[in-house]
This record gives sequence, C-alpha cells and structure tokens, in this order.
Amino acid sequence: MIDLCTLGTGGSMPLHTRALASLYVRCGGRALLVDCGEGTQMEIGRLGWGFLRIDALLITHYHADHCSGLPGLLLALTKAGRTAPFDIWGPPDLTRVVTGLRVIAPALSYEVTLHELPAQGGHFDAIGLAIDAFPLNHGMPCLGYRFALRRPRRFLPERAEALGIPKPCWSALQRGEPVGDWRPEQVLGEERPGIAFLYATDTRPVRSIVTAGQGTDLMILEGMYGDEADRPKALKNSHMLFRESAALARDAGTRALLLTHFSTAMDEPEVYLSAAQAVFPETRCAADGMTLTLRYPAPEA
Ligand SMILES: [Zn+2]
Ligand SMILES: [Zn+2]
Repeated sequence: MIDLCTLGTGGSMPLHTRALASLYVRCGGRALLVDCGEGTQMEIGRLGWGFLRIDALLITHYHADHCSGLPGLLLALTKAGRTAPFDIWGPPDLTRVVTGLRVIAPALSYEVTLHELPAQGGHFDAIGLAIDAFPLNHGMPCLGYRFALRRPRRFLPERAEALGIPKPCWSALQRGEPVGDWRPEQVLGEERPGIAFLYATDTRPVRSIVTAGQGTDLMILEGMYGDEADRPKALKNSHMLFRESAALARDAGTRALLLTHFSTAMDEPEVYLSAAQAVFPETRCAADGMTLTLRYPAPEA
C-alpha cells in the first residue's frame, strides 16, 4: 500500500491558512517528497510521519513555490541525524538551482545526489516505486510524475510440493530467482494489478497527462482556478481550471481525482467543486494535511 499526504495545497505563495503545495509519499517504510516550497519542513513536522525516512525529493519545476523550501529541508534532515545519501530529481537546470540554494545550506551530514532529467522526462526507481517523469506545459521545463507499485505474484506452495522442490529453495523462487532447473514461473500465480497514481501541477492541459493517467487509481492535478471567468489568467499563467483538470481525469479513465495548488485568491475551493464533478464525478479538493491510503485492489469475488 501507499500512504499519501498533501502537506500543503497552495499555489504561488504561502498563506497563514494554506501552505504551499507539496506531497509526502510513504511506501514500505520509506518516503519521498514531491516539491518543497517555503515552509514545507513545518508541514512535515506537523504530519508526524518523520524526516529520517525521507530518501528523495522530486521537483516539478523551479518556480519558488515549488523549491524554495529546499535549504530548510536539507538542514532539517541533518538535524534529524541523516547519514544516508539523499536523492533529488528534477528537470533541466537542477544542478544550477540546487547549487545556488545550497550556498545557504553548505554543511550537511550526508551526500546529496542530483539526477537532472531531460525536459521530456524519463524513468527511474525510488523507495520501491517505479517512477515515470513526463513533460508538462508551463512556460519553463516542468515535469509531472507517475508512480507505480508492482504487486508480487502469489507463491503457490502446492505446485512447489507437486514438483518436489525442496523447501529451502522456495524463498528464492518466490523472489523471482531461478534455482537449478526450477524457474519462478512454475510456482508463481498470475500477474496481479498493483497501485498507480500521478502528480501534475503547473501546466496547461496536455496529452502527456492523459497518457500517464491511464491505469491509475488516483490523479493529483492542479486546481489553480475554479471560476470559469479566470480562463484568461489560466492561459496567461499556464495553469488549469478545475474543469480542465477534471476533463483530463475523465479522458485518462482514472478512478479518482484530487485537486491541489489553489490560487491565493480562492478562499474556498470547494465552492467550485461541483463544476469539476459535472465533468468527472470522482473529484475532491485536497486540504493541507489530508492523508489517504492507496491499497491493492481486493480479489474478485
Ligand atoms: Zn506553482
Ligand atoms: Zn509554476
């Protein structure tokens, strides 16, 4: 299973009522963050899921509301006693941006490893998740991220016994490793669906979101503007309206949509929720500190 927390749900600047958009992803005891605006470390402390388990940060793009909290986060990890390397992924310019921010956080208790992704994205693994970065349209290099957790195939002991495989060999076969002439396929059940979700904010609607959203259980997309009258602002600032995000979720065929990254001008995003639900009924507005758990689908009855 995967636990998620929308640490903050604001765009542009933090408000005393709403922190900047950031996502805490916990899986198998480890964790990563997506984006780290000003004050994100305070929201992590408030959540209580811990600093030390955070192994990586994925940055969508280099507007301040998405990365200005990095020096504070890096220092908080040192204060928490981190010694293991810390990985940061982001679009082109990652090295220049992080090097600049590190001027005010030079002494850390661990290594920081930078992984600069091309503008069109790429594939990598972190905390046991297979991650695909894909391009967005925001007037500067900007990436969305799709996360997938594979579900291991079930081990079939009755087959192993029928084949006369000694028990000490079972665990290797269960892990997918051949033992002598025995192959894992002989003792493993069918492929089972895993869990997938994506995160994409700060963009106009693009086809890459629909493509990446296929087969997902959840899409977390921006809800910068709820009011249709704000369409000119959405076009000018390369953001999306609630209805545009809902249309992407509908077209991708995901199970649920969570809106985040709300404009500072929008006091109550829920006021506009019905407009999005008219396009895609399974839409909700995120809130600061909201947690949810994605689980493997239950077996068919
Ligand atoms: Zn933003
Ligand atoms: Zn932006």
